Amino acid sequence: MTEKRLAIVTGGGRGIGLAIVMALEKQGRKVVAMDIDKARLAELQEKAEKEGLDILTECIDITDSDALTACMERLGDAHGGIGILVNNAGITRDGLVVTISDDDFDKVIAINLKASFVATRAATKSMMRHRFGRIISISSVSGVIGNAGQSNYAASKAALIGMSKCVAREFAKRNITANCVAPGFIVTEMTAVLPEKAKDYAKSAIPMNKFGAVEDIANAVAFFASDDSGYITGQVLCVDGGMAM
Ligand code: NAD
Repeated sequence: MTEKRLAIVTGGGRGIGLAIVMALEKQGRKVVAMDIDKARLAELQEKAEKEGLDILTECIDITDSDALTACMERLGDAHGGIGILVNNAGITRDGLVVTISDDDFDKVIAINLKASFVATRAATKSMMRHRFGRIISISSVSGVIGNAGQSNYAASKAALIGMSKCVAREFAKRNITANCVAPGFIVTEMTAVLPEKAKDYAKSAIPMNKFGAVEDIANAVAFFASDDSGYITGQVLCVDGGMAM
């Protein structure tokens, strides 16, 4: 392996993001978990201190572009540059097209897409200086094949794929790769709130006939963060039990 490069994971306080933080730490990295949820970060910090894990936490609302940019710059300066960025934080505000408000549309775009752009912009500045970077964005099968009731969310996740491919092309010669992982249905607090009927329907669309675990996504991200994926850029890996094939 692998130099000990700083990895930043947005939405690292719980769910898929937390699993990614743990997987990258296990890979031998110093990992920063960024999240708006102070309590979850405090729990994580306590665990890290108790178990001697190389994890830092930053409580931040990533829709505050100036704060996010300043935080990324500060972290890069303090830790010898940013090596890995995982754009993971995301929200849903589901509804049929006729019921989604402007606010529900804008909020989803602000967190899922714009904050990922702002983080990517800040990270690439640091990555260019060090001629190394791995940017991994958590999209969704919704952004690949669509999903009734998620037009705002699917728009943000499809846009993330477009953005990632642009980043891949812009920075390919500088040893900076950009890839997406598109989860299918993963058991987290985000999906726990869905009605049983919706879960049954989702399961029926999964060839493997089961939901995924957060580790399934974290393992794919760890691969994209590792030196083993150095010749892969601009790709979308669906981790979905066959849902979007
Ligand atoms: P989650 O809701 O459990 O976790 C999201 C995390 O992001 C939370 O810790 C939350 O506090 C944080 N966050 C939200 N808004 C923030 C903000 N403004 N600033 C900083 N942090 C913020 O979600 P999850 O299920 O773990 O999903 C993680 C990612 O995976 C999301 O992008 C989601 O869209 C994507 N995804 C999830 C599934 C699934 O089935 N769970 C499927 C496809 C894609």
